[in-house]
Amino acid sequence: MTDTSMVRPREASKPRLLSVVVPAYNEQAVLEEFERRTRDALAALNQTYEIVFVNDGSTDETLALMLRLRQANPNITLVNLSRNFGKEIALTAGLDQASGDVIVVIDADLQDPPELIGDMLEQWRLGYDVVYAQRLSRDGESWFKQTTAAFFYRLMQKLGPVRIPANTGDFRLMSRRVVDALGGLREQHRFMKGLFAWVGFPQKAIQYHRDARFGGDSKWNYWKLWKLSLEGITSFSTFPLQVATYLGLLVAVLAFVFGLWTVVKTLLFGDPVQGFPTLMTAIAFLSGIQLVALGLIGEYLGRVFNETKRRPLYLIERVEPSAAAQQQLTAEPPPLRDVKTPAQRP
Ligand code: UDP
Ligand code: MG
Repeated sequence: MTDTSMVRPREASKPRLLSVVVPAYNEQAVLEEFERRTRDALAALNQTYEIVFVNDGSTDETLALMLRLRQANPNITLVNLSRNFGKEIALTAGLDQASGDVIVVIDADLQDPPELIGDMLEQWRLGYDVVYAQRLSRDGESWFKQTTAAFFYRLMQKLGPVRIPANTGDFRLMSRRVVDALGGLREQHRFMKGLFAWVGFPQKAIQYHRDARFGGDSKWNYWKLWKLSLEGITSFSTFPLQVATYLGLLVAVLAFVFGLWTVVKTLLFGDPVQGFPTLMTAIAFLSGIQLVALGLIGEYLGRVFNETKRRPLYLIERVEPSAAAQQQLTAEPPPLRDVKTPAQRP
């Protein structure tokens, strides 16, 4: 997928600061274990890091737990949102606050193993800007969810202008320039997988087995997944708007043929009053199509409406930066980025 001539090995052997961004909503059951495993994984790599916890308006003890963890581990940055904004936006808030030159996005529930960060960094060293984790298995997910997910990815590949890799979540490593690029995309309707694909840059997949949740419950039900798919399609494709046109054309042609046939039939055989069922079928069918077409237009119109309000994506109640991030912020001169754009190369 990636043009390999764009990929050049990096001079630096490791990032100056690695930010691990973690959106969390009611994750009290898993947070401590998550912090422990992530800390161990990064200690094994001997890597300077910060964990950016984004508390997405949790109603349980998540915030208190984060504060407690932060006291024990100065490498934790805490971003507390003013309410629940949903995962995609919590993720954006975390990316905006992350100060690392390399950023990893990961779920709090340990479905994405933090031990994989080392493998991701290896690919980063080879020169890739985005290293995303691709699931080989989906433990603890129903057959129905797996099938519908597969169908959705296929549909997106057909409809969208950018190819969204199948079986990937948000678990990925990104270089600073990719996160900066993402930061420039301020649309309200954020289908992150689509945005990740849209920014481009050399990307690389690494495979892993996705575990079942360590504890707590998934926040996704089928209705939410349906809405996410709708988001994905309407944010990246206008094809559904055209469906109405083609369907309308088809129905119009059929109706015309049907009309011709009626005229011929009447001329040949006369016209006893008949055809009430035909009439009802035609009316019902056409009303259905018209309502669907209207609804589709409504989906897009609603999104246009939301974008025109130009509200901020989220509101932050407070940020408590990690020691590492504070150092990075006050560092003089500003951190050199080890990624040179082709123009800067000698
Ligand atoms: N999440 C969030 N805000 C929400 C819902 C979820 O920040 O409104 C976080 C959640 O805490 C977890 C991640 O998003 O860290 C993925 O959520 P979940 O495990 O429920 O999704 P799944 O793994 O089932 O796709
Ligand atoms: Mg999960």
